[in-house]
Formats: sequence, structure tokens, C-alpha cells
Amino acid sequence: DHLSNKIAAGEVVERPASVVKELVENAIDAGSTVIEVELEEAGLSKVRVIDNGEGIEEDDCLTAFERHATSKIKDEADLFRIRTLGFRGEALPSIASVSELEMKTGTGNGPGTLVVLKGGQLVKHERTNSRKGTDVTVSNLFFNTPARLKYMKTVHTELGHVTDLLNRLALAHPNISFRLKHNGKQLLYTNGNGDVRQVLAAIYGVEIAKKMIPLHAESLDFVIDGYISLPEVTRASRNYISTIVNGRFIKNFPLMKAIEAGYHTLLPIGRYPIAFLNIQMDPVLVDVNVHPAKLEVRFSKEAELNKLVETAIRQAFQAKTL
Ligand code: ADP
Ligand code: MG
Repeated sequence: DHLSNKIAAGEVVERPASVVKELVENAIDAGSTVIEVELEEAGLSKVRVIDNGEGIEEDDCLTAFERHATSKIKDEADLFRIRTLGFRGEALPSIASVSELEMKTGTGNGPGTLVVLKGGQLVKHERTNSRKGTDVTVSNLFFNTPARLKYMKTVHTELGHVTDLLNRLALAHPNISFRLKHNGKQLLYTNGNGDVRQVLAAIYGVEIAKKMIPLHAESLDFVIDGYISLPEVTRASRNYISTIVNGRFIKNFPLMKAIEAGYHTLLPIGRYPIAFLNIQMDPVLVDVNVHPAKLEVRFSKEAELNKLVETAIRQAFQAKTL
């Protein structure tokens, strides 16, 4: 019902970046190779996500807006076991309950479907012409939850959250082409050719991408790949360090410290590298119960992992100076 959707929305939809996250993750889950995100006013007045994924069958278009009707998995403990990013069947109903949402989708077989909801109420449901893929526009976010709207920071801050998110998704999915536009201006474009360095160049510029070196290490339990900036390129915060486990962004403070430790002697006090670590491991080694929504995780073999991360970074720099 509408009330529980609105309550759920409070958890799922914190700010425009949350809307972008859910819509883009759905596009990724749908097998898209090209994803475009268009924003107006950092997404507060409009978020539009266009993908070329598998689309939604006409019959499934309304169930997609029913809470828990579509959950791709049933148990949060399965989070790291599954291939898809969505898992609760909560995002679309939640977003729709606090905005005006228009979705045009097609599977490539027969006509497509247009669905419009306002504050979670169905306004329109009809057949339409649509190429294969899905095009979702979310307008007037939080129009019916003024308290939430009041919490929004400046356009600049909200846009920062969206660009951080898109940068990370692009790094995690180098074989998907991402485009981000804000008020008509392009802020990010990756070509989807699968090369992480190309994504780094798109995010940080060619010069900085050239000053990032690859790292790799593996043990029986972990495979680590990534890039880390040379000491001449540092940042004043840890925000430029991204860690991905089995395709999902995670936060883990000990892991962060291990990255810094591997880099330690090269880093001036208070400076941090730009880094991107992609870690593969058996899902049973990840404990997500710490905080599923924020993706704080714990690792069962934490000491082993941290040591491997440290080693990977040390060796990357040693290889560089040889
Ligand atoms: P979840 O992703 O947790 O399953 P969502 O509320 O995010 O739940 O999405 C509901 C359902 O709608 C998805 O399970 C999927 O079947 C469908 N869906 C949503 N967005 C897309 C999209 N861009 N392309 C194809 N299917 C989609
Ligand atoms: Mg989803």
C-alpha cells in the first residue's frame, strides 16, 4: 500500500543519488551495454535513465511497482552470491511513491509499454512504440514529502553524490558505456570498451590516468585487481579510494587502512591515493549483516585479505621502480 511504500522510500530513497543508483543498477541487471543518465537540478527536478537492456514485458510492468513482488533474491545473506545488483524489489515502488515517474519500456518483441505514476498512484498504463530497452524519468522528487525535501543540500552537493556514484559504477563496469549529463552538459562519458584505464581517464583526465599503476595479487581465497595513483598524485580525503567485492561497492575500514599501509612510506601525512580495487572472493567470506543498505561489510579472513592488499600495492610500486 502507499503508506508502506512511502516508509520504505525513506530507507531506499535518501537523495537524488539514491534514485540514480537504483535505476542504473536495474539497467545493469537488465544486461544493458549503454546507459545514459540525464539530470536537472542535480536530479531534484528530473532524473532520466535510458538503457538498452532487455526491457520489461507488458504484463510485468505493473508488478514492477508492487513492493517485494519482484525481488530478484529472497535473502540478504545471498547478496554476494548473486549476479544481480537488485535484491529487494523495493526500489521502483519506493521511488514512485515520492515522485512522478514515467517508464517507457520494450523488449524488442511487439509494442512497448508506457506507465505513469504520481505519488505511487497509477495515472497511465498503455501500449506505446518503444525500441528494446527502458527509459525511466523521475520528476519532482519528494514533492509529497516536504520534510525530506528540506534535508536536501545544495545542487552542488547533490550533484557531487551522483557523480561519485556514476564514477564508481563506471569503474566497476568498464564494459558498459555510461554517459552522465547535468542540465544538458556532459559530465562523464565512458566508451564501454572494457579497459579500466579508459574509465580512469574519463573520470580523472588522461594525465592522471597515466599516473596510475596497475596492481594484482592473488591467494587461494582472493583475487585482487586494481589501479593506484603514484605518490605525485594524492588527494586530501579517502573519497577517491573505491573498493569492490564481487561487483558490489563495499565499505570496510580495515581494508581502507590496509590500502594506506601498503602505500604508507610514500604518502605525506593527510594525503591519500586515488585507488580502485576489485576483489573477487567466495561469497561465504563476506558478512553483510553489519549494514546492508550502506554496504558496510566484514570479512571472515580479514587479516589474510588485508595482508594481500598491502602486498599487492607494495609490489605494484616495486615493479614501477625496477
Ligand atoms: P529489484 O531490482 O530489487 O528486483 P526494483 O524495484 O528495482 O527491484 O525493480 C523491479 C523489477 O522491475 C526488477 O526486478 C526488474 O524485473 C524490473 N526492472 C526494473 N528496471 C528495469 C530495467 N531498467 N530494465 C529491465 N527490467 C527492469
Ligand atoms: Mg533494483
